[in-house]
Formats: sequence, C-alpha cells, structure tokens
Amino acid sequence: MFDSYLKESVIGRAVKDKKIKIRFYNPMDLCEPKRRVDDRPYGGGPGMVLRPELFLKAFSKIKISRTPLDIKRRTKVIIFSPSGKKFDTAYAKKLVKQKYTDMILISGRYEGIDARVQKILRAEPISIGDYVLTGGELPAMVLIDSISRQIPGVLGKYESLEEERISSSEVYTRPEILKWKGKNYRVPKILLSGDHKKIKEWKKSK
Ligand code: SAM
Repeated sequence: MFDSYLKESVIGRAVKDKKIKIRFYNPMDLCEPKRRVDDRPYGGGPGMVLRPELFLKAFSKIKISRTPLDIKRRTKVIIFSPSGKKFDTAYAKKLVKQKYTDMILISGRYEGIDARVQKILRAEPISIGDYVLTGGELPAMVLIDSISRQIPGVLGKYESLEEERISSSEVYTRPEILKWKGKNYRVPKILLSGDHKKIKEWKKSK
C-alpha cells in the first residue's frame, strides 16, 4: 500500500538521499498460529478490536535510529484515531522543531486497537480529519509526506520557496484565452498587469 506513493517524487528522493528512513512492522505477522489478530469488543457492539499484545510485541521490535550522541535520540509515538487531535501543518512544523529523531506511527483497522496500547506506549492519538477511513495507512502516508516536507533539505530550494510564499488555490498557465466549446475563458487581468503588489493582494484574497 505504501510503496507506490512513498517511492515517488519528493518523498522518494528524501528516502534515496537518506534524509528520512521509513521502516514497516506488521503486527499481523506476529500473530500466534491458529489465533486471530482481532477479538470481540468488551461491552458489546459491532466490529472487532485488534488484540493489544500484537502491537506491543511489534513495538518492542522497532529499531530506532542511533545518533552519534545517543542521548539526543528522541522518539514520538503517534496512534491514529478519527477522534484524535487534528493534524495540520503547524503540528508537523512543531514536531520537526522539537527535533524528534524517530516517529512511530501506529495504524489501526476494524473497530480500532485495544485502548491499552495507547496508554502503555504513551502514544498521542492523531486524526487527519472528521471522517472515518478503513485503516490508518492513509493517515500514516499523510503524516510522512507532510512532516518530511518540513525537514531541512527534503524540499529543493525552489520547492521550499514555493512552500513559504503566498500561494493561492486559483492558478493559471498558458493560453491566456482558453477556447472551449465555443466559449472564451480568460486569465484574470490582474495577473497580466505586472503590478506585483496588487497580484500579491489578489492571491491573498483567493
Ligand atoms: N470506530 C473506530 C473509531 O471511532 O475510532 C473507527 C475505526 S477505523 C474504521 C479503523 C482505523 O482507521 C482506526 O483505528 C484508525 O487507525 C484509522 N482511521 C480511520 N479514520 C481516521 C482518521 N480520520 N484519522 C486518523 N486515523 C483514522
């Protein structure tokens, strides 16, 4: 699920250049023979809950990176949940500023992971939005992408400038007049004016 996205573009380059390293641990691989990875929820209700021991075992197998001065190593543990703290760029920037050397992202499935895993691992519950997804894989990719972009050297000089500048969701390229099904669609005049102050204001307003 992760390969095709994380091997491409900015993140693929960051991995190749050793700016970031991504490792995967599948708690399902640690399931005892003839046992299920999930079990019925206490208190009743639909859906199945992922067993805690598999996640704790997987956690104990995680290799964290070593910095020259090992004391400098800092690990942040995140567990995905639709009701967690909402993720945004400010939070991504904060994590990078706090200089965590390792981030452990725990993805759930089904009805979620037994709540004791979060408590034992002191994981912070994080949501990527007010909707319920099938699993935590997409949220993990969202965090990997967004956080990596904040790590110095991951974005090229041009892309960094792009990230910081005033951007707008309304962008145009050539042709100046697009002819489509008998109609003319023009680029807003202000963008052709050469008046940078006004263009900046226009972009801010979009
Ligand atoms: N009933 C569960 C709950 O409310 O927490 C929903 C479980 S959901 C079907 C399965 C897993 O997908 C969750 O354990 C979580 O890891 C992940 N997930 C789903 N939606 C998410 C969201 N908006 N943000 C972060 N993780 C999400």
